[in-house]
Amino acid sequence: MKVLVLNCGSSSLKYQLIDMNNESVLCKGLVERIGIEGSVLKHEKDGMDEKYVVEQPMKDHKDAIKLVLDAVADEKVGAVKDMKEIDAVGHRVVHAGEKFACSVVITEEVEAALKECIDLAPLHNPANLMGIDACKAILPDVPMVAVFDTAFHQTMPKSSYLYGLPHELYTKYGVRRYGFHGTSHKYVSQRAAEMLGKNIEDVKIVTCHLGNGASIAAVDGGKCVDTSMGFTPLEGLIMGTRCGDIDPAIIPFLMRKEGLDADAIDKLMNKESGVYGMTGISSDFRDIDAAASEGNELAQAALEAYVKKVQKYIGAYATEMNGLDAVVFTAGVGENSITIRERIASNLEFLGIKLDVEANNVRGKDTVISAADSKVKLLLIPTNEELMIARDTLELVK
Ligand code: AMP
Repeated sequence: MKVLVLNCGSSSLKYQLIDMNNESVLCKGLVERIGIEGSVLKHEKDGMDEKYVVEQPMKDHKDAIKLVLDAVADEKVGAVKDMKEIDAVGHRVVHAGEKFACSVVITEEVEAALKECIDLAPLHNPANLMGIDACKAILPDVPMVAVFDTAFHQTMPKSSYLYGLPHELYTKYGVRRYGFHGTSHKYVSQRAAEMLGKNIEDVKIVTCHLGNGASIAAVDGGKCVDTSMGFTPLEGLIMGTRCGDIDPAIIPFLMRKEGLDADAIDKLMNKESGVYGMTGISSDFRDIDAAASEGNELAQAALEAYVKKVQKYIGAYATEMNGLDAVVFTAGVGENSITIRERIASNLEFLGIKLDVEANNVRGKDTVISAADSKVKLLLIPTNEELMIARDTLELVK
């Protein structure tokens, strides 16, 4: 069975065609600048020396998906002879509100429910819906599944998802913690249990998805019981350009002092803050690391603050679960930064966490990086959201 995984953004689209017999990626690619000048598709498959690049106008997602399917079924660069070989399509969808706690086969009702969630994810859900509509038009007989970023976190108890705000704001507007990166937290927690040789029902895991956007989840017995992102992806850790947790009173204070309206303060916190705003250098942790090594004090402070915040969440979630068997590092920073992993692990010895410095000298592959006598295991697991989407899709359509 072959599953096409689609991740549609407002002007971009990422795809992978996965053969579910052996979970191998047959081909993958990226379309950028959909609906704007300079639309381009970049496609690759194993064994190709260079990417196959198509530069031609694409006015919408339908045009883009047509081109993707042409590439996927192309005689030279494709991975199938005919697009009829695609058995199902799995769509990444960002926000399902409280409507879906797991992936679902896409029907008219599901689409209507996703439209109702647009208020909660005004940038993402419309793009996801455009991708669904375009696929429906081009592949009308192929079953489609929606896999939600928020679904894995729907197991959180009220005590984790309710804010200290008037309850009517939750009932009227759905103001609560939803959490994001759910597909990644689910994938790495399942893989962690496999690597530990344990049943997921029997383990308490803290999963650290440390990328440009970053979140941490407490996964007890395979279920998410708490997570650091909230109503939106702004809450929690200090990120590349997002501020994470701050005193909420700073918002009205700055709005008055700087004469900012709601959109301007939103932009400041989402796009101009994080390690980028703290240092004025970059949102890329490699640049911050380099500047810190050269003695830049702001970069040193930003890294210290970043690491401290991750440690705080790990400590808090170990307490919340009343125990801890493993901590997982994943995503760009978690998979690649040897020094940041080392710094995070350094203050956690009281929890029974002991890093193996040699084992930690690795990037981007499944590895146990804790010492043999570490009570709590430290794991490096590259995330694979596409595979998780394909697995859920297969499960629902087979
Ligand atoms: P992601 O959002 O998961 O794609 O992660 C992207 C982020 O990973 C980039 O902003 C980089 O800061 C970070 N990253 C990638 N490689 C490294 C590295 N070797 N050291 C530190 N950060 C890294």
